[in-house]
Amino acid sequence: MARPWYVRSFKAWSSNVAAISLLCCASLVVFDAVELILSRQNRLAEAGREVANLSASLAQYCQEAIETADTALIGLRDEASHYGMDEGHLPVLQGLMFQQLANLPTLHGLFLYDAQGAWLINTVPGTPRDLNYADRDYFQFHKHHAADVAFVGSPVRSKSDHSWIITVTRRIYGADGRFAGVLDATISAALFQTLFERFDIGPHGAITLTDSTGQIFVREPYSESNVGRNIANTEAFRIASTTPDGVIFEFVSALDGTHRIGAAQRVGETQLRVLVARAEADILAPWWQAARINLLCLAIVLGVATLLSRRVSLELRDRARAEGMYRLLADNSEDAIVCGRMDGLTRYISPSLAAIAGWPDDKLAGSGWTQIVPPEDRAAIHSALAGLSDGEEHAAARFRFQRQDGVLVWVEMRARRALAAGAGEAEFVANLRDISLQKQAEVALEEANAELSAMSITDALTGIANRRHFDQMLKREWNRAMRTASPLAVLMIDTDHFKSYNDLCGHPMGDQCLREVAQAVSASVLRAGDLVTRYGGEEFAVILPDTIAERAAQVAERVLDTLRARAIPHPGAPLGIVTVSIGVASAIPAPGGLPGGLVEEADLAVYRAKRAGRARIEIAPPQFIIGALPPIAGSGAAHRR
Ligand code: GH3
Ligand code: MG
Ligand code: MG
Repeated sequence: MARPWYVRSFKAWSSNVAAISLLCCASLVVFDAVELILSRQNRLAEAGREVANLSASLAQYCQEAIETADTALIGLRDEASHYGMDEGHLPVLQGLMFQQLANLPTLHGLFLYDAQGAWLINTVPGTPRDLNYADRDYFQFHKHHAADVAFVGSPVRSKSDHSWIITVTRRIYGADGRFAGVLDATISAALFQTLFERFDIGPHGAITLTDSTGQIFVREPYSESNVGRNIANTEAFRIASTTPDGVIFEFVSALDGTHRIGAAQRVGETQLRVLVARAEADILAPWWQAARINLLCLAIVLGVATLLSRRVSLELRDRARAEGMYRLLADNSEDAIVCGRMDGLTRYISPSLAAIAGWPDDKLAGSGWTQIVPPEDRAAIHSALAGLSDGEEHAAARFRFQRQDGVLVWVEMRARRALAAGAGEAEFVANLRDISLQKQAEVALEEANAELSAMSITDALTGIANRRHFDQMLKREWNRAMRTASPLAVLMIDTDHFKSYNDLCGHPMGDQCLREVAQAVSASVLRAGDLVTRYGGEEFAVILPDTIAERAAQVAERVLDTLRARAIPHPGAPLGIVTVSIGVASAIPAPGGLPGGLVEEADLAVYRAKRAGRARIEIAPPQFIIGALPPIAGSGAAHRR
């Protein structure tokens, strides 16, 4: 029989739960890994944008600082060109320069040089008087270029205070347009250093301001030894100088092997360049922290899932085994197993019911199994289930199933009241067994018993009751007659000259003769309560309840008449036919008496009839009462024919 879908799915599930849980865990790991990889990429991309934005902002700031310095220079240059730089005007110019310096905190100092490079005005206090600036690149530029442009020089150490500065300079034209000197505004490295320090670029990051030759002007984190150092041959500088402004690039530091992300931005049209670089390790540090927590949680989830799946798997396996065991028992039991509600609606029927009932499963399902029970037998099922419903623990019933082929099968049902786990109300669980063979055996036994008991009271030769039955019935009738104080009569009948009949006609004929005598006696006894028996040999005895001697004698007469009428030939008898001699005895039994006494009296009467010539009746004394009571007065009389 095909198993229902839920049993198959249950089996499939139980074997695949490990695979399913493995699949779930693997999916979780893949999703998590993808998530981590994407978030790492996002973090790096975001950091790249931050680096590019920062380099652009810092370059912009530097540019503005230079432009501010240049604006101040243009104003002063115009003053110097307008008024000239003779002794009389220098104090005015100096006043203006100090005023500008006060107004512009981004400036380190303001200088005015003459055409020979000697300084005329200097805002840095303590600058030696004899210093000459003709060697500076900006001085040489303005001296040889008439163009009115601002020149931003390479970072240099200030000759005044030896601090690192960059110079923004403008040419001063004489009255005839000749080179008359240079105006110089200096910006301190410290200004940019202070600015750069404000940005957190991580412990392994750097912000560098260099010139086109690779000389460092400002570097954050600050280190005295770094300023003025040349990084032209570093990987970072090489890539930065070949990569367009604002484009993010990656490089590995030759110094410490650190992987970095960087972006560079030129400061306006100058030779200065801001280079911002961040270490990948610094950028990814928060990501790593989150990833570690994430992986820890994942490990916990996977661990718990593995444990749970193992538990579930074991549980399912145990259940499947138990289920398989119960099913093995139910499916292979000779008895059918049925369980369901008390109204007979089944929840489960085992396969063997179909074999017993002779109908397919679908016909028996639900309450179908009761429908194939003949209507007259259904009450047995209903009363058994009603008993269980009323609280009885056990119930049994016998009924029949009418098979599909019409054959009736006897079934015995033994049912129990049961409460399934989780069920609201009690149900029945029943064993159904085919007891057809048992039933046949019972019927056969009953018949055999009936036959046996008939045999035990029947005389085999004549078919009438035997001596044993005579004794039993005599005793019973004796007691009854004693209770009712009614008369009980007995006829003892002996076939005359039967030995010579046998001798003359043969034993088989003798047997036949006895059967005919028995029939004749039976035919002569008319009342229902009378009993004709074969007493033994060629003797018969008749019990006549509630019969006085005269009435019994009449029955005896009828026996003689019947035999005479049948006229069974007897070659050795004086009359030529079979005759009998009959002794009649009747009495009212009394306590203390025995039925044997009555038989004895009748026997004596037979003996007397024999002696008197046979073929006649003799009656025992009529006053005879057996027992403790005194005999009735009067004398016995022989009745002859
Ligand atoms: P009486 O007139 O005095 O009674 O003489 P009787 O020959 O009938 O008496 P007896 O008791 O001498 O003989 C009885 C005979 O009955 C002897 C026996 O062979 C015969 N007999 C007894 N039982 C059976 C039987 O079942 N079948 C046959 N064929 N004969 C039987
Ligand atoms: Mg005899
Ligand atoms: Mg005889």
